[in-house]
Amino acid sequence: MKPSHIEHIGIAVKNLDEAIKYYENIFGLECYAVEEVKEQKVKTAFFMVGQTKIELLESTDPEGPIGKFIEKKGEGIHHLAFAVSDLENALTETAAKGILLVDKTPRKGAEGLDIAFLHPKSTFGVLTELCENKTKK
Ligand code: ZN
Repeated sequence: MKPSHIEHIGIAVKNLDEAIKYYENIFGLECYAVEEVKEQKVKTAFFMVGQTKIELLESTDPEGPIGKFIEKKGEGIHHLAFAVSDLENALTETAAKGILLVDKTPRKGAEGLDIAFLHPKSTFGVLTELCENKTKK
């Protein structure tokens, strides 16, 4: 596996609208998409910074993964996502090297990307996402 770039940085926030305003007003970035990912119980907002996105995550349910994260750790960086070209292969390779996977097979994330998470127990505490944009090929 050799990621091409950092696809996005996921940031957990309590209030999506307020966080959007911050990135717009302070950094002059434009929020180009807001999307709800029902199965993850989150609403997401995206900004482009060069090749990398900022993904803001607001929980729609206190029992969802972001709701639980904020309750435990507060707002802040939630995960780091690398862009890879062959996600299934990358997962097989990573598991073979002894890294714990949260997702053994790819699933659908925001923006139609195929995504999978590596377990923070194996990644020095950083919840790590691998994603592949199959629509780009
Ligand atoms: Zn993500």
